[in-house]
Amino acid sequence: MTAVLLHDYASRAAESRPDATALAMDDERMTYAELDRLSGRLAAQLVDAGCRPGDRVGLLVPKRPSAIVAIHGVLRAGGVYVPLDAESPPQRLGRIVTSAEPRLLLAVPEAAERLDALADTMALPPVWSVETDAIAGARVRSERTRADWDVDAPPPDVRIAPHEAAHLLFTSGSTGEPKGVVITHGMVTAFVDWAVGYFGTRASDRISGHPPLHFDLSTFDIYATFKAGAELHLVPPTLSVDPSALAALIRDRELTQWFSVPSALTYMAKFDAVGQDDFPALERLLWCGEVLPTPVLAKWMRKLPHVTFTNLYGPTEATIASSYHTVPEVPRDETEPVPIGVPCAGEELLVLDEQLQPTPDGEIGDLYIAGVGLSPGYWRDAEKTRAAFLADPRPGEAGRIYRTGDLARLDGDGRFHFLGRADSQIKSRGYRIELGEIESALSAVAAVRECAVVGVEVEGFEGVSICAAYVADGDLAPPALRRELATALPSYMLPARWLALDSLPKNQNGKIDRPALRERFTAETARRRGARA
Ligand code: AMP
Repeated sequence: MTAVLLHDYASRAAESRPDATALAMDDERMTYAELDRLSGRLAAQLVDAGCRPGDRVGLLVPKRPSAIVAIHGVLRAGGVYVPLDAESPPQRLGRIVTSAEPRLLLAVPEAAERLDALADTMALPPVWSVETDAIAGARVRSERTRADWDVDAPPPDVRIAPHEAAHLLFTSGSTGEPKGVVITHGMVTAFVDWAVGYFGTRASDRISGHPPLHFDLSTFDIYATFKAGAELHLVPPTLSVDPSALAALIRDRELTQWFSVPSALTYMAKFDAVGQDDFPALERLLWCGEVLPTPVLAKWMRKLPHVTFTNLYGPTEATIASSYHTVPEVPRDETEPVPIGVPCAGEELLVLDEQLQPTPDGEIGDLYIAGVGLSPGYWRDAEKTRAAFLADPRPGEAGRIYRTGDLARLDGDGRFHFLGRADSQIKSRGYRIELGEIESALSAVAAVRECAVVGVEVEGFEGVSICAAYVADGDLAPPALRRELATALPSYMLPARWLALDSLPKNQNGKIDRPALRERFTAETARRRGARA
C-alpha cells in the first residue's frame, strides 16, 4: 500500500462518502465529491502551469471553503502550500513571500489591495484567483480564475514521499525575520493517526475550524476531520471577537468537537456566553497553544459535565501537539495549572539540564521533544535549525531533539508540567510572538535611540500584555510610534503599553534590566486601576 499523504484523506472520503458534507461555513456547504473535483482540477492547472513537486504556492486566501480547495489543489500537484496572513503589513508579508519564493500566489478578489501593496515591495509571481471573480488591482491582476480551472481535466497523479514538505508555516523570529517551519506530510499524518484513534473521531462528527490557516493548529482540524470523513465547520474569523456568536455557532451547528487556543474559551467564559448544560451535542473540548487558566477551565467543566476536556501541548516545530492531558474531574485547586500530560504516540518529552542530562524527577529543566513530529528544520536556515534541533544526547539514540524554549518538570506519575519560557517568546491571544521581533522593528524607527519590549501577565483573556519602553531623540509620542510600527508589524504584535523614558534601567552588567521594567509596567497598571476605582 502506498504511504498516506495529507490530501489522500479527502480523496478517500470522496470515494466512500461523496455526498457527505466536508466543509461548512455561513450558508455554504461543500461535499467531499465537490472538494475532490475542484481540488483535482486546480491541481491539473497547477501542473499545467509548471508547478513541480516541492514548488511553493502562497495562499492569500482567508479561511473559507475555497481556501481548503486551494490547499488540496496544491498538495495534489505535489506542491508545498504557504498560508499567508493577509493582516500582516506588506513589509513583513513581503519578507515571507521573498523567503518562500513561491512559483505562484493563489488569492481572492478582495486581496487586490494587499497584493498591490506587496507588489510595491517586491516582484510578485503570477497570481490566480481561487474564486470565479478575477483579481483586479491597480497593479496586480489574476492570470487565471476559478472559472478557468474548473474545467474538465483529469487530476494529475503526482506521488511524493511522506517525508517531503506539505506546507511552510512562518512564525515570529527573535532577530526580526519570520522563521519558516517546514512541515512534512508524515509529521501531520503521525499526529492525525494518534488523534483520530485517541479521540475516537468518526464520520458523524461535526468539528470546529477555529484557528486561522497560518496557525499549525488548523491542520489538526482539517486533516483529522477528513480522515474520519466528518464535517469541518470553519469558524468565520469575524466571530472570534464575539463570544456569544461563537457560543451560538457551537450550539446551532451541533458541534461535537471544539478546538481552539485558550483565549477563545476564556473570552466565552468571561462574557457568560455558555449556559448550564449548554451544547448537548458537544463531546470534546480541546485547547492548545498556551495555558488555559484553571479557574476558566473549572467554570467550563462545571457548566458542561457531559464534555471531555483535553489540554494539548506542543510547538509548531514538533507538529500541532506532542503531549496531552485529559482532565479527569473539575480541578479542586484552581491555583494549580493542569499538566501538559504525557506524550502522544511516537513522541517523547525530555526534561534536561544545561549539559543535556536528564533532571531528577520533579526538578525544573528545559523541555525537549523527540520523535515522529519533528520538523526537518527552518526553511533555508541551517544555522537556526542547528541551534534548535540537536543530536539526541542519549546513548544509543540516533535521532534529533528539539529545544522548545519551554521550562518543565516531570511529576511522580509520569506527567509533564509546563512552567513558562526560558526565553523572550510570549503568547498573546494565542499568537506566538518573539519580543525580539518587536524590538528589531522598534529599533529600525529612526528617532528611537534605545528600546526594550517585555511581556507582562495581565488578568483576562489577553494573557500577556506587550509593553514597550523607549528612549527617543526629540519628541516621539507613543501614538506616532505605534503608527510607524504598524507599517512593519501585524496588529497583534503592537505593544499595548508604552513608556517614554530618558534612559532604560540597566543591571550591574550594563544590560537592560528587564525584570525592573516589567515591575515598572505592573506598578503602572496597578496605579491606573487604583485611579479608576
Ligand atoms: P506554537 O508554535 O505557536 O504552537 O507555540 C508553541 C509554544 O506555545 C510552546 O513552546 C509553549 O510555550 C506554548 N504552548 C503550547 N501549548 C501549550 C499548552 N497546552 N500549555 C502551555 N503552553 C503551551
